[in-house]
Amino acid sequence: MMEESFDIHSNRNFRDTEREFENSLRPLTFGDFSGQGKIVENLKIFVSAARLRGESLDHVLLHGPPGLGKTTLSNIIANELGVGFRVTSGPVLDKPGDLAGVLTSLEQNDVLFIDEIHRLSPVVEEYLYSAMEDFRIDILIDKGPSARSIQIDLNPFTLVGATTRSGLLTSPLRARFGINMHLEYYDLETLTGIVLRSANLMQVACDINAAQEIASRSRGTPRVANALLRRVRDFAQIKGTGKIDRKISSYALEALNIDKYGLDEVDNKILLTIIDKFKGGPVGITTIATAVGDDAGTIEEVYEPFLIKEGFIKRTPRGREATDLAYRHLGRKRGEEQGLLF
Ligand code: ADP
Repeated sequence: MMEESFDIHSNRNFRDTEREFENSLRPLTFGDFSGQGKIVENLKIFVSAARLRGESLDHVLLHGPPGLGKTTLSNIIANELGVGFRVTSGPVLDKPGDLAGVLTSLEQNDVLFIDEIHRLSPVVEEYLYSAMEDFRIDILIDKGPSARSIQIDLNPFTLVGATTRSGLLTSPLRARFGINMHLEYYDLETLTGIVLRSANLMQVACDINAAQEIASRSRGTPRVANALLRRVRDFAQIKGTGKIDRKISSYALEALNIDKYGLDEVDNKILLTIIDKFKGGPVGITTIATAVGDDAGTIEEVYEPFLIKEGFIKRTPRGREATDLAYRHLGRKRGEEQGLLF
């Protein structure tokens, strides 16, 4: 079943066309951004206050699973502050010189977005400290005996760091963010609204039942919802009338092999591992990670929160346990797990 499943949930290997598609649907203001109520309310206040004082906003750390709107929110922060927006990412900033180049090009109060900030190399990270704290960096000039370092003042700026793995952030880096926010999965109603908004932007008619069905299979994640909508639109145009209704969305989601609960391949693999290899648990996260072939931190921060939230896994002092819902979903019966390997 899973080998054939359509890999729409994967955050990896993003193609350029997908990026363009995402950018075309990105909300640009707080008013356009639905969900994450508390975060948005607080950010609005911090942004207004910074604007009022004409100062740069405090540095912001956004953490949470992929596709929940970290990039979108940082873009909105820059728009609402009325300042420039620069985007880079942890793995791209290879040497301190790369970071110095970006930092010195920032204008007064600009927003610098560093995606995957947990992947900064230690030397680059250390270099970032003085930039964040004092808006100042040291640059090494010349080589050999005449080498010396000079201090350069930077324009005040706001660093927005995004990470799916906040557990990997060092405490000195974490401590330098004045604002620290965790993004949550979206509820069905909010996600349905996002699907309808996206359909509108894509100029395709989509009724509310269809939007609900797409939302319910989107793993609480706007990125997944938008990607599914795009695929369903293809079906509507080729196999249907062009309009997205319940009939064509059910047909398309079935044809695409999209899980009823929105679970992706890794989610299912984790559940099957607990059920089939460890008799439903309890089993430790490291053991699950080894069996699934991913690292424990990723499972704990990226996959497990959704599985717990939806009631597929329970966290107990002795480890993780699969719930009855997980058994039902995978068509397994307690006591008959062995031998059913994926
Ligand atoms: P992240 O940076 O957390 O991985 P993104 O900000 O890139 O996620 O969001 C992924 C996609 O989901 C984008 O196309 C964006 O338009 C859409 N999206 C995310 N959050 C929202 C939201 N609250 N409302 C509408 N669309 C959203």
